[in-house]
Amino acid sequence: MKKSFYNLNFEDLENILRENGLNTSAASLLFNWHYKKKVIAPCTVDISKKTLNFLEENLSFELPQIDIVHESSDRTVKFLFKLHDGSKVETVLIPFHGKYSICLSSQVGCAMNCSFCFTGTQGLKRNLDTSEIVGQFLVAWNWLVQNREEGGRILNIVFMGQGEPLHNFDVVKKACDIFLSKNGASIGNQKITVSTSGFIPGLKRWSEESLDVNLALSLHSPFTEKRNELIPINKKYPLEEVLSYIDTIPLRRKQFITYEYLLIKDFNDQEIDARKTGELLKGKEAFINLIPFNPFPGSEYQRPSEDIVENFKLILKEYMIPTLVRTTKGDDVLAACGQLNSKS
Ligand code: SAH
Ligand code: SF4
Repeated sequence: MKKSFYNLNFEDLENILRENGLNTSAASLLFNWHYKKKVIAPCTVDISKKTLNFLEENLSFELPQIDIVHESSDRTVKFLFKLHDGSKVETVLIPFHGKYSICLSSQVGCAMNCSFCFTGTQGLKRNLDTSEIVGQFLVAWNWLVQNREEGGRILNIVFMGQGEPLHNFDVVKKACDIFLSKNGASIGNQKITVSTSGFIPGLKRWSEESLDVNLALSLHSPFTEKRNELIPINKKYPLEEVLSYIDTIPLRRKQFITYEYLLIKDFNDQEIDARKTGELLKGKEAFINLIPFNPFPGSEYQRPSEDIVENFKLILKEYMIPTLVRTTKGDDVLAACGQLNSKS
């Protein structure tokens, strides 16, 4: 099988060209064409015939195919992508002020089996490769250009779709390399966020290899028993250890770690939960995102009332931790956090 062009970061591409006796300057042209201009068709400008022939014979430019598009009344877009082996994954475009954040999947399903997550009920089918991650971004961008008057304005990338990104570390790292590359998409490091349930082997690599993007931790409860129930890998990788790894990750100026806190009615939404969370994160470079639970078919939990959510936020304020309530978007098409499930 041919190697995918979209699995290569800039350095890989230069190396391949060099090893095959071709001019490495084609790497900039190709990154400019496919990632800066986001053209999906083969590159035709300024490239020697010899290089074009080499590309055609040795590299594949195949991208995920759009299977279904759901457009929500709030302009959220959910794509169901079909991959080369028939697997399916979902990607969501979340609008804000005429621009979009893209929520990318990193695996088909997920092995972590969190009790509140629709994806978790699928189990893990396989890891995505880099081309399938970068491909979600490129195809969604081109869809926006064709279907929305504001065009392709994806300014933020979050790895909060299906899968545990740190369980597929190398692939996610390479996708970030491609998104960050100044020769290509040139997305700022403060605009990319990888969210983890607390998978320590991945956090260890992150702290050793200084992945230069933002990190979000799905915290959901500061109490061991409750967190064990929500995120079963907490039994293997306890929160205290997770937090101590996170503390070793070097931060840029003004950079925060985002702590996501899923609020579930009568489970983790009381004053005692808020206070313990405040004590745990007080003094850290922390930002809290409160996510009221999004129900899905068959889910056993419920979403708390707005008053409870507001009260939780006010308590955290006492601990001087900036806190936002993430408003739910796209839930009429099951595109909100935790509602992604592509089993069909
Ligand atoms: N696997 C990673 C990233 C994907 S999940 C992680 O767990 O962090 C992205 C976010 O959606 C996580 O914070 C997750 O806890 C949250 N989420 C999952 N199911 C949800 C649901 N039903 N309602 C609201 N948020 C949910
Ligand atoms: Fe996987 Fe994240 Fe869902 Fe847990 S919340 S099952 S880690 S995708």
